[in-house]
Amino acid sequence: MLPLVKKINSYYNNTMKVLLIPEKCIACGLCQTYSKVFDYQDDGIVKFSDSNDLQMAVPDSDSDTLLAVKSCPTKALTIL
Ligand code: SF4
Repeated sequence: MLPLVKKINSYYNNTMKVLLIPEKCIACGLCQTYSKVFDYQDDGIVKFSDSNDLQMAVPDSDSDTLLAVKSCPTKALTIL
């Protein structure tokens, strides 16, 4: 296997994709208390800290983000 392909496979095998569903967010502010991956728009609706995308790959080992996703009361955060 080519080194680059191996590297890409390794990258994707060690990540989870987090999806935001802003329509479900009630701006409770809980997710950011668990993980710095999350931030909020001016109206308090969730966004990613360093991106305006609705999906982001984060390391599988990021247990803080996993806890934030599991803790969201409205399921506005999902793991794909
Ligand atoms: S925990 Fe869920 S409902 Fe609360 S701010 Fe985060 S995404 Fe929105």
